[in-house]
Amino acid sequence: MPELDTLRRLIADRTDEAVALTRDLIRIPTVNPPGDAYTDCAEFIGRRLAARGFQVEYVRAEGVPGDSDRYPRTNVIARIEGRGPGPCVHFNGHTDVVPAGRGWTVDPFEGVVKDGKVYGRGSCDMKGGIAASIIAVEAILDSGIPFHGALEISGTVDEESGGYGGVGHLAKLGYFSRPRVDHVIIPEPLNVDRVCIGHRGVWWAEVETKGRVAHGSMPFLGNCAVRHMGAVLHRIETELIPRLAAKRTTMPVVPEGARQSTINLNSIHGGQIEKHGGYPSPMVPDSCRLVLDRRYLIEEDPEEVRAEIVGILESLKAERPGFDYELSEVLAFLPTMTDADSPVVRAVEDAILTVLGRPAQQVVSPGTYDQKHIVRVGHLKDCIAYGPGILDLAHQPDEYVGIDDLIHSAQVMALAALRLLGSTT
Ligand SMILES: [Zn+2]
Repeated sequence: MPELDTLRRLIADRTDEAVALTRDLIRIPTVNPPGDAYTDCAEFIGRRLAARGFQVEYVRAEGVPGDSDRYPRTNVIARIEGRGPGPCVHFNGHTDVVPAGRGWTVDPFEGVVKDGKVYGRGSCDMKGGIAASIIAVEAILDSGIPFHGALEISGTVDEESGGYGGVGHLAKLGYFSRPRVDHVIIPEPLNVDRVCIGHRGVWWAEVETKGRVAHGSMPFLGNCAVRHMGAVLHRIETELIPRLAAKRTTMPVVPEGARQSTINLNSIHGGQIEKHGGYPSPMVPDSCRLVLDRRYLIEEDPEEVRAEIVGILESLKAERPGFDYELSEVLAFLPTMTDADSPVVRAVEDAILTVLGRPAQQVVSPGTYDQKHIVRVGHLKDCIAYGPGILDLAHQPDEYVGIDDLIHSAQVMALAALRLLGSTT
């Protein structure tokens, strides 16, 4: 259709503007933790969209962990109505970025442009995606193509630390539920030709083995919690990890190595504190704590995920004299997966084929992102992640987004949005 060709051209003509917007966003150092400059970034997005006729709201997640007057958790939601009643398409981007870390060859908060790429912390994850969605929506408005329903763009905080102060908070308030919103696209960096339909489940738990203190020269008079934890680790290594590796999934998880159940031993602490400046005292440790990060599949029962660990601990309790433990859950999110032929998936896939001339690949993310809150709290299933940026570059030094990808993804977002809105074109 000629209108859609015009729309694509309009976006291509804004390449410099898309780059400038990405750079402006990178220069607002919204580093999390602690949650710097969130209000500056929300107001930057809000001012820009208000000037285009959007109704803009700011919602601070007061009282959530991390929120304070020094570090307010400020979210922005902008909405513009079409010509009549109809569905709402929402683009949700997280404004927070992880700390820069070491190893950069450019200033991480400058927005350096080099060789067709914009460099900087958050360029890929995911200020490039936010910029692409803004350019897409502005181009729809400028094209004059009539649409029904509404378009929304939000900039939300704290995704990197669980999303409780961002999408989680807004979902509780109804911002991610029908009838307000029907379709959500999260421009996370999953590569420009892939549609991410969901993520694996996550279960974090802390296992503590218990013992009894005694003089280190007479360990037989105590009960060593670290040795007990050694027995737990041995069972995880020899029994659980092989069992998890054998659990394969139909979820199209990328990378391939994550297409199975996994466990990461996140941290372990036992006995006296380290690096206290002096020599340690000879003590038998009475406590050892292990934090587990278990990622699981849609085919698995979350009760079973817990039961596997409990099973190991209970059998050790039966076999090992003096073994005692405590298990506490740290956090849990169920796996989520949008139907492969749901409206938002089909609209984005078709747009990818149109813009890039090749079929889209459906993928599932190994880790979770804000889709969990939209599905579980907002009860809105028609949600995916799609955006520019190469997944593997997220959180790395010298993170970048390709300028071509920025423009192509903005074109995909615009075409998909119009189709979901039932544009008359
Ligand atoms: Zn992200």
